[in-house]
Amino acid sequence: MPKLLIIEDEKNLARFIELELNYEGYETKVASDGRNGLQLALTETWDAILLDLMLPELNGLEVCRRIRQANKTLPIIMITARDSVLDRVSGLDSGADDYIVKPFAIEELLARLRSLFRRVEALGTTELTTITFKDIVVELESCVVKKGDKVIGLTKREYDLLVIFMSNINIVLTREVLLNKVWGYSTGVETNVVDVYVRYLRNKIDDQNQASFIQTVRGTGYVMR
Ligand code: CA
Repeated sequence: MPKLLIIEDEKNLARFIELELNYEGYETKVASDGRNGLQLALTETWDAILLDLMLPELNGLEVCRRIRQANKTLPIIMITARDSVLDRVSGLDSGADDYIVKPFAIEELLARLRSLFRRVEALGTTELTTITFKDIVVELESCVVKKGDKVIGLTKREYDLLVIFMSNINIVLTREVLLNKVWGYSTGVETNVVDVYVRYLRNKIDDQNQASFIQTVRGTGYVMR
């Protein structure tokens, strides 16, 4: 049973989320301020954290940064009241894996969680320790990417995207599928973010004057071949 920590100071909302998650089979605990939440996050084992942005004692961004310093992989979903680009960007910059905007339908949160756990499963705990395509090698345990002897520095999103491509060689992946697998969005919003990240990734892994490892399939998406 996945164990979730809910760090949320609005008692009614926290209680509502908790009841719904319990009903879906998640084990939960609620912390109602940032300091208490951070302490619980770091001292117990969790499958994921739901973290409100605006919190008393210690705000959500700071809590997120401190969790990340201690734990690089624990999935964090940021809950934000304001749908401003700045909030979303700072949330993701501080190390959150996803965010959800208040007010949200519980179904949306459940979908995000399912998708988050699918990604963790797909990226993490398989038997495989490396995946290789041509001269690119991804060491899954250390998250190190090498091209030949050279280590390539990738951001977390670029890394996730590369792993998805390398796990699906010769399979065309639509923007929606990539958005869902890498960003965890269940609906087809802002699919152009995929194009932007594919471009970043190509710039880092492709050989100059050679065809890209990641080919565009017009009107559909991308394929690594
Ligand atoms: Ca709050």
